[in-house]
Amino acid sequence: MSEAGSVGMSVASAFAGMRRVSPVVFRAGCPDCRGRFELAASALRLAIGASSRTTFYSFTCPECGAAVRKPAGERIVELLTGGGVRTLRLHSTL
Ligand SMILES: [Zn+2]
Repeated sequence: MSEAGSVGMSVASAFAGMRRVSPVVFRAGCPDCRGRFELAASALRLAIGASSRTTFYSFTCPECGAAVRKPAGERIVELLTGGGVRTLRLHSTL
């Protein structure tokens, strides 16, 4: 899949990426206690189902401890997977 040229490119961009210091955080809100907070990628889980109705992300509220589950649209899925959130694929083979 990757040619020699693109390998060189990704090495260059890996070094360019060294400037990022802060960890990736996501803003989230809790429907139970109405708390608003920032969560690290490791605090979130993304579950990708066969359809958008079974695709959601979940986290535990740091304020009240509630298990929060919210539907994840295409953009959110992109955002979370790009940010290193652990992803679980629920559907087996199509
Ligand atoms: Zn809460």
